[in-house]
Amino acid sequence: MVIFTLAAIFMPDPPPPLDDDRCGYAFCEVCTAEAPYACSACKTTRYCSSRCQNAGWRNHQRECKIHQKLHEMDVRIAMTRPKRPPEGICTGCNAQVGEGRRLAMCRECGYQACGSCESHHSRGTCYCPNANFGKRYCQMEPRWYHSNGRGRSYAGDRHPDPDALGGRPYPSDVYEPAPRACDSCGTVTRVFKKEYRDPWVWH
Ligand SMILES: [Zn+2]
Ligand SMILES: [Zn+2]
Ligand SMILES: [Zn+2]
Ligand SMILES: [Zn+2]
Ligand SMILES: [Zn+2]
Repeated sequence: MVIFTLAAIFMPDPPPPLDDDRCGYAFCEVCTAEAPYACSACKTTRYCSSRCQNAGWRNHQRECKIHQKLHEMDVRIAMTRPKRPPEGICTGCNAQVGEGRRLAMCRECGYQACGSCESHHSRGTCYCPNANFGKRYCQMEPRWYHSNGRGRSYAGDRHPDPDALGGRPYPSDVYEPAPRACDSCGTVTRVFKKEYRDPWVWH
């Protein structure tokens, strides 16, 4: 009985598995080495290896619950649609349009962009999480940076039209081996491997 109680005190729950998460540059919570893994429970705290995760688990356990709550809140905020912006004002830069000038408008979400915002990497994207001014992110050039208008980049499936690269097809090892339905638009096609979704790998 004593042994059982001691075991409960000294052996906390095992740590959750690590997620392979290579977007961005981050440092290990324990040893400050480069950290390609994140705690899969809170998706926040980063580690270089499961060895370091185990070493830091006792400290992280309580913090992990707090991070989880914050992460859930972030996700909920990202899912709620912003209100339709007022017409005649550029949603990207708030500039009022003068006589005879037009703003490009997304019919779905009402986002409007002036000429200079249209070409801007994040102001030029509307509020629709899967499309930009009606054009699906999954079918666009991966070299572009896209966000849902709240600073998050699109991280879903991609299968851009090879014509977008001036007719040159993408190398075949960029694609997953077998065709499947795209998570975003449902088209059955060959989609990019996960590591090629990040627009930065195409720079
Ligand atoms: Zn480490
Ligand atoms: Zn955690
Ligand atoms: Zn603007
Ligand atoms: Zn939109
Ligand atoms: Zn698609």
